[in-house]
Amino acid sequence: MEPIDKAIDLSSLTVANSFSTEEKTYKCAVCQDRGIVMVSPDTCAICQCQEQRKLERLMKSSQITPAFRAKTFANFTLQNRPQTIINMFRCAKDYADSFADIQQLENNWLVFLGEVGSGKTHLSMAVANALLAKPVPVLYFPHVEGIKELLKYFQQKSEANIHDRVDKMKNAEVLIWDDLFKGREKPTDWVLELVFEVINYRYLNLLPTIINSERIDYQLLEIDKAIGSRILERGKGHTVIIEGQACNFRLQ
Ligand SMILES: [Zn+2]
Repeated sequence: MEPIDKAIDLSSLTVANSFSTEEKTYKCAVCQDRGIVMVSPDTCAICQCQEQRKLERLMKSSQITPAFRAKTFANFTLQNRPQTIINMFRCAKDYADSFADIQQLENNWLVFLGEVGSGKTHLSMAVANALLAKPVPVLYFPHVEGIKELLKYFQQKSEANIHDRVDKMKNAEVLIWDDLFKGREKPTDWVLELVFEVINYRYLNLLPTIINSERIDYQLLEIDKAIGSRILERGKGHTVIIEGQACNFRLQ
């Protein structure tokens, strides 16, 4: 008699356990994570939660940090800012709002050049977050950290890692290159080659690219004419240059 009692106890325990864990782990109460819902006895539809899941996957693959995820147009301060900054804001907003049309153009890049602390990164992130919400996939590449990582792979001779990273940068639907050529020193030939490989590929394939840099137009050309001229050409129509205290503004 004893073994039967034990068996009954065990099975009831298992049922109770599996029931409570399942209840706790549902991300979506509507479809219970099946991704589909029955709309009539013989028709089903994709659950609303799937849009959200897609968005979450896009956010994750964009490599945008949580701090930058919070940068939006709404929390960019326009009060008491020079006209050039207001123009940069409008340029960014127009790019995000009209992205579907701009994407089709040859000159479909967004370029912010000049003064440190003027909000170039904030507005680049605001565009990125607005595109992600559409949803358009984006890839974020912070120059200093990104180059450091690639250089580490280079020193480790992990060609596969470099290839994988560079390939993602070349083919991203939208690439955001933050702080291109940051630093006082002239970039090494290795860095220039890498930047050219990505920029040239995106230039030739008309892939939307968002670039911000402390180096202004002639400085980019001085560093590398091939890289600089490609950026300036694709950015025509959506380039803002913020210079010195005078804050010269140019929107071609
Ligand atoms: Zn669902």
